Amino acid sequence: MTTATAIDIEKIRAKFPILHQNVNGKRLIYFDNAATNQKPQEVIDALTNYYQGYNANIHRGIHTLAEKATKAFEKTRDSMQKFINAKHVEEIIFTRGVTESINLVASSYGRAFLKEGDEVIISGMEHHSNIVPWQLICEEKKANLKVIPVSEIGDIDLEEYRKLLSRKTKIVAVNHASNSLGTINPIKKIIQLAHEVDAVVLIDGAQAAAHLDIDVQNLDCDFYCISSHKMYGPTGVGILYGKKSILEKMPPYMGGGEMIKEVTFAKTTYNDIPYKFEAGTPNISDVIALNAAILFINNLGKDQIAEHENELLEYAVEKLSAIPKLKLIGTAKNKVAVQSFIVDGIHPFDIGQMLDARGIAVRTGHHCTQPLMERLGIEGTIRASFSVYNTKSEVDELADGLMRIVNIMKG
Ligand code: PMP
Repeated sequence: MTTATAIDIEKIRAKFPILHQNVNGKRLIYFDNAATNQKPQEVIDALTNYYQGYNANIHRGIHTLAEKATKAFEKTRDSMQKFINAKHVEEIIFTRGVTESINLVASSYGRAFLKEGDEVIISGMEHHSNIVPWQLICEEKKANLKVIPVSEIGDIDLEEYRKLLSRKTKIVAVNHASNSLGTINPIKKIIQLAHEVDAVVLIDGAQAAAHLDIDVQNLDCDFYCISSHKMYGPTGVGILYGKKSILEKMPPYMGGGEMIKEVTFAKTTYNDIPYKFEAGTPNISDVIALNAAILFINNLGKDQIAEHENELLEYAVEKLSAIPKLKLIGTAKNKVAVQSFIVDGIHPFDIGQMLDARGIAVRTGHHCTQPLMERLGIEGTIRASFSVYNTKSEVDELADGLMRIVNIMKG
């Protein structure tokens, strides 16, 4: 079970109670990490400690529990600021996740600043949550959505991107890493080129946060979106990073408590950022537990995590390539540890089910990237995505399972 990397896999696995179970009579092998990854004990403990010890609403209370909860909640904001190297702590807004973060920007920034004939650029490998919010706002504002083409192996076509950019471009929204293909996009270049035409750039960091170093100041992105549940944290929480100067000129997204300074029936004045964008009681427990997830990643170190995951990806590519009729989908040079594939003559769902019977959890389907699947001329893929607790012997079992499935279906 142990691998040759510097991290102690057994020690890490011991922190994840969910991994130590049988599924369909077999030891669970969890390779659906790009959908959501598993939670270490310290994240689970942070949730129960909050509910058992200091559950209280935050910011408005002056009693001890409320103060303790507020402090813990705001501590996550501080940790997240450091995690992505934001200049100001008020640039971190808590949301439900990447989907809500993108919708917030599309609705608030888009509604305020897009005009008829303006253009929004996305890429051909975006998740539906980085497509549909832009379609909605483009339709409302009579703006046009443009798409950067993607190559057969899964790279963004930078030359075509250059051609799409013009003074009409107001927003560019692309992912840092693709959930279907694993491609790591050249976002620094994409941002720099967009800024040359004064467009703002939103980066969907859903697939990056657990694997790649994120430095929003160095990237110079205008918005960056993260989901906690893809970085060992709880579901239902994430962040939107936005540059202070931009967030300050954006109108509120939702109205309610917390986002106001003063309310009269005649007029309401809004709170300062980040609270202007945090209407209502937030997801306190999950925000607090997200801090434990950040600490988990920081303690391991992103370099160590990436080294281990890259080793697994390389190993998986080698093993999967040896399986007859299997075609790898997404073979760009720069990738996070996600490998999609198809097997000639066998539907991805059937493979998914047969692997599940062996205790192996993979994702099958279009992965919320239907336009990308159409571009590649396929209905969907089987996707194995790796996390820090996965091992080479698990990859062996996946390859072994696939080999048997291919042989059974042949017979
Ligand atoms: N973008 C990408 C690249 C994703 O992988 C996902 C999650 N599958 C999302 C956006 C949406 O994230 P969430 O569902 O956490 O809002």
